[in-house]
Amino acid sequence: MDYYSSQISKLIEELSSLPGIGSKSAQRLAFHILNMPLEHVEKLSSAIIEARKNVKYCKKCYTLTDDDLCPICKNVNRDQKTIMVVEDTRDLAAYEKTNKYEGVYHVLHGAISPMLGIGPKDIKLKELMQRLQEEVEEVIIATNSSLEGETTAMYISKLIKPTGIKVSRIASGVPVGGDLEYIDEMTLFRALEGRIEL
Ligand code: ZN
Repeated sequence: MDYYSSQISKLIEELSSLPGIGSKSAQRLAFHILNMPLEHVEKLSSAIIEARKNVKYCKKCYTLTDDDLCPICKNVNRDQKTIMVVEDTRDLAAYEKTNKYEGVYHVLHGAISPMLGIGPKDIKLKELMQRLQEEVEEVIIATNSSLEGETTAMYISKLIKPTGIKVSRIASGVPVGGDLEYIDEMTLFRALEGRIEL
């Protein structure tokens, strides 16, 4: 890529390190950025820097937020006694889009995967169990229907069962191995409505 100046090459290289951005897309983005008004580029880069600096885990549900508590945990109108367990913040966003779920969430930031060497201690599971010390009526396990998601669901249900708290699993109908964020809202809503007590 030495036909570009080193600064352009550097920009392309940085952009192509992002997920889903191949070298062609990186070049397209780089030239788009170079043609943008400087003021717009400054806004974009400061949005990235500010978000990266200030975004942290919600102290309660571990979703990404820029405050101690996320807007959902702070909302007094949400049913704080029903906790939906999801693998990541994007899954939470997918359920929020249905506009039908009134409970709160717990974000695990991953799933148990013996193959990848990810164990229960590598996800926010201990934090979930700590939350169950408070008054909780139901835990809805909404991990993906992949092997890892099912393994995690089984593990969590075994942990919670002895506490006497109701544990349910979202209904299948969510495609196997499918990323929750790509599933339409109606399918997610049906999966939630048709959840099965474990
Ligand atoms: Zn929260």
